[in-house]
Amino acid sequence: MENRRVRVRFAPSPTGPLHMGGVRTALYNYLFAKKNGGDFILRIEDTDQERFVPGAEEYIIESLKWCGICPNEGIGFGDGTYAPYRQSERKPMYKQYADQLIKSGHAYYAFDSREELDEMRKRMEAAGGTSAYNAITRQSMKNSLTLPEDEVKKRLESGQAYVVRIKIPRNEEVRVQDLIRGWVVVHSGQMDDKVLFKSDGMPTYHLANVVDDYTMKITHVIRGEEWLPSAPLHVLLYNYFGWENNMPQFAHLPLLLKPDGNGKLSKRDGDRLGFPVFPLEWQDPATKEISSGYREKGYFPDAFVNMIALLGWHSSGNQEIFTLDELSNEFSLDRVSKAGAKFDPEKTKWFNQQYLRKRSDEELAKLFLPIVKEKLGSHHLPSAEINLQYLTAVCKLIKEKGNFINEFWSLGSFFFVEPDKYDTDVIKKRWNENSSKFILALKDTYQALQTFTVTETESAFKSTAEKMGINPGHVMQLFRVCLSGLGGGPALFEMVELLGKQKVVSRLERAVAVLSK
Ligand code: GLU
Repeated sequence: MENRRVRVRFAPSPTGPLHMGGVRTALYNYLFAKKNGGDFILRIEDTDQERFVPGAEEYIIESLKWCGICPNEGIGFGDGTYAPYRQSERKPMYKQYADQLIKSGHAYYAFDSREELDEMRKRMEAAGGTSAYNAITRQSMKNSLTLPEDEVKKRLESGQAYVVRIKIPRNEEVRVQDLIRGWVVVHSGQMDDKVLFKSDGMPTYHLANVVDDYTMKITHVIRGEEWLPSAPLHVLLYNYFGWENNMPQFAHLPLLLKPDGNGKLSKRDGDRLGFPVFPLEWQDPATKEISSGYREKGYFPDAFVNMIALLGWHSSGNQEIFTLDELSNEFSLDRVSKAGAKFDPEKTKWFNQQYLRKRSDEELAKLFLPIVKEKLGSHHLPSAEINLQYLTAVCKLIKEKGNFINEFWSLGSFFFVEPDKYDTDVIKKRWNENSSKFILALKDTYQALQTFTVTETESAFKSTAEKMGINPGHVMQLFRVCLSGLGGGPALFEMVELLGKQKVVSRLERAVAVLSK
């Protein structure tokens, strides 16, 4: 085991969109593989055909790509050495493993009908016991342990439906070593004879999962805590197959909790509590219901990934902002916590803001451009300002004020269109005969300025006010409102310089005309 190349897998079932918790599982596998120079494999576990949801597999792959955490092996990735990577396509290979366990006495055929199983459950519950199919109850059921050998043969030959169940020992301690939780010990009396294989030729999750991990040479199984109860069964399977020396190491990741810490963050919480729980928007193919996604809400994938990385893991220092490469270097399973990680939607916005500030003004301008075009299109106002140079300057001024690109229009639409209304609170407080005279005088002063820079416009503003006996501080916000309509915004004289003389003068003129009515 020591010298094996590290190989980890993300093994989702295509039963719906990938939840944030699933993205985190994929991410930790990716980081662990990168850190250890190993392989990160995508395997689709679609043995449960009844729960198959069309589009889910494509959604999973698109999500991983959007997050930038691409597998180097698996469906659509790598050279396919261990292909196929979809369990439904591996169907023919599982039967031999079920047969092997039957032969070695670790599994058996069971022929019980649904009614017989229900009846057994009722009987056991009425007697106050567990209703599990186990070392005790299997003795009174129809299986190859209770039926005579020739009867079993007859049933199999006549094509009667059966399942293969694992024969869990009655009284044994099963020990699982977990890299996050340490030793987990379970008494086999608590376990049941899980179904491994069905007569339609399909394995169940447990058999397929263990066989695939073994045949794909997986060294570490990193998955959500909800799979911890399955781990003892998987350990027994490794032992029964004689694969104990190649058993992967297990690491079960803590749950993601609701923002108030009360229970698991579920698919339903998202839109109910006002934040997405999915990386990408998803439309349920059956109900047509739409669940929102981080991508469509305007999050940057690197901000989203950074946020997810810290849900249950922390770095060795206090650093919170990490590139994917930095995360790959820093990541270690011993800093994954055992306790559930509370999801914090506000912190998620903070992450996006940090990444927005990290982006260059040019990059932001490119992202802002389509929004501006669309907005101006709807105003029917083609503008000479739709060029990257101007947009870059606008982004530079407004980027500190927002968390998302899609807030930029409301923060800076006045750079493109004249304001159509003026902040009423400021107007009520500051608009009077004197101040309107000041705005007109300022318009004339500006009209006469040769250079229209931050310094020039600021000192002209002050001197005009002082000449009229007005405290510049008292008309500053009013001036801003006349230009932008808004009571707040970017640094005032930088805004003035960028708007340029012509627009500033005409807006002041217009403001006086509108407000004096
Ligand atoms: N198919 C399981 C899931 O949907 C995989 C569990 C595991 O990683 O073993 O999450």
